[in-house]
Amino acid sequence: MKKIIAVLPGDGIGPEVMAEALKVLDRIQEKYAAAFEYEHALAGGAAWDKHGEHLPQETLDICRRSDAILFGSVGGAVRDQHQAKWARAEVNSLLGLRKTFGLYANLRPAKLYPALASASPLRADTAKKGFDILVVRELTGGIYFGEPKGRRGEAESESAFDTMIYSRAEIKRIAHIAFQAARTRRKKVTSIDKANVLTTMVFWREVVEEVAKEYPDVTCEPMYVDNAAQQLTLRPSQFDVMLCGNMFGDILSDEAAAITGSLGMLPSASLTENGFGMFEPGGGSAPDIAGKGIANPIAQIMSAAMMLKYSFGMNDAYDAVARSVETVLDAGYRTADIRQMGCKTVGTEEMGSRIADRIISQTG
Ligand code: NAD
Repeated sequence: MKKIIAVLPGDGIGPEVMAEALKVLDRIQEKYAAAFEYEHALAGGAAWDKHGEHLPQETLDICRRSDAILFGSVGGAVRDQHQAKWARAEVNSLLGLRKTFGLYANLRPAKLYPALASASPLRADTAKKGFDILVVRELTGGIYFGEPKGRRGEAESESAFDTMIYSRAEIKRIAHIAFQAARTRRKKVTSIDKANVLTTMVFWREVVEEVAKEYPDVTCEPMYVDNAAQQLTLRPSQFDVMLCGNMFGDILSDEAAAITGSLGMLPSASLTENGFGMFEPGGGSAPDIAGKGIANPIAQIMSAAMMLKYSFGMNDAYDAVARSVETVLDAGYRTADIRQMGCKTVGTEEMGSRIADRIISQTG
C-alpha cells in the first residue's frame, strides 16, 4: 500500500515539529510494511517568500494528487501582522485549503494524559480523573458562512448582522461522523445546541435525534452550550464525543484544549465526505519559540497518527503512536511547555526520537 502525503510544514515551529512527525511515520513504515511518499510543499509565509502568495497553485496541485495533507502551522509574530507576508497567512492558507477541498468535519481530540494531570489548570481532584474527549465540529457552515451578513444604516441606527443557517443535509453528515467516531470509542455523543433560544438549534436537535436512531448502540444526549462550557471544567470525564456546529465547536474545542495543560499536545483532523483529510496541530506557528529547538512535537506527531487512522484506516498504527507518546510521558520526559516537578526537560528532536524509537521497541 503506497500513500502519497502532501507535507506542508509552513512557518515558525512548523518545520521543526514536522521533522519529528516524519521520523515517526518512517518507523511506522518499517513496522507495518507501509510505503509513504512525502511531497513537500510551501504554505503561509514560506510560500509568500517564493511565490508572493500564501497558498500557491503548485501547493494546491501537490495536495490534489496526494492521499492526505499533513499541515504544520503558518503565520508570524502578532506584532508583524501588518506586513503583507504575515497578514492573512493563516486565513489564506487554512481557509483556502478547507474551502478548496470541502473539509467540513473537524475532529479535535482533547486528552488529559494521567502523567500530565498536574499540568492541567483544572482542580486537582478533577484532573486526577483524566478525560478523553473528541470534539466533532462542523467546519464549513453555520453562522461563520451563512448569508446574508453585513452592516447597514449609519450613526446610531447602524447595525451589523450574521445569519445562522444549517440545512438538514449539513447536520446529518456531521452527525454521522460523530456517531461513527463514538462507535470506535465509549459510544456516547453529547450534541451541543442552544435549542432553548435559537430556531436553528431546535432543528439541529431534531435532525441529530433522527440520525441517532440509526445508531442504537450509541447513547445520545443533547446539552445546551452554556451548560457544556461549565461541565467541561466541572466534570470533563463525562464526555466522550461532543458534536457541535461551527461556532460552538470553535469555542468549546479551545476550552477542551486549554484544560489539557498545553497547546503543544493537541492534534486535529479535517475531513471531506470521502475520507480525504488535512491533519494539523491545534496550536499556531509559535514565533516566540521558533528556531530554539524546544517546541513540543506531540501535537504534530498525533496529527500524523490521526492521518493513519482516518485517511488510511491504519488503526493499529494509530494505537502504536498513541502508546509510544504515553510511554514517553510516563517515563517523565517533557518539552519546556509542560513543566512538572521531577520531570526531565528535553528538546523537540529528543522528544521526537524517543517517541519514534518506542514504535519499534513496543510489542504488539
Ligand atoms: P500560537 O499557538 O502560535 O502560540 C501561543 C502560545 O503557545 C505561545 O506561547 C507558543 O509558544 C505556545 N505553543 C504553541 N504551540 C506550541 C508547541 N508545539 N510547543 C510549545 N509551545 C507551543 O498562537 P499565537 O502566538 O497567537 O499565533 C502565532 C501565529 O500563529 C499567528 O500568526 C497566528 O495567526 C498563527 N496561527 C496559526 C495557526 C495554524 O496555522 N493552524 C493556528 C493558530 C495561530
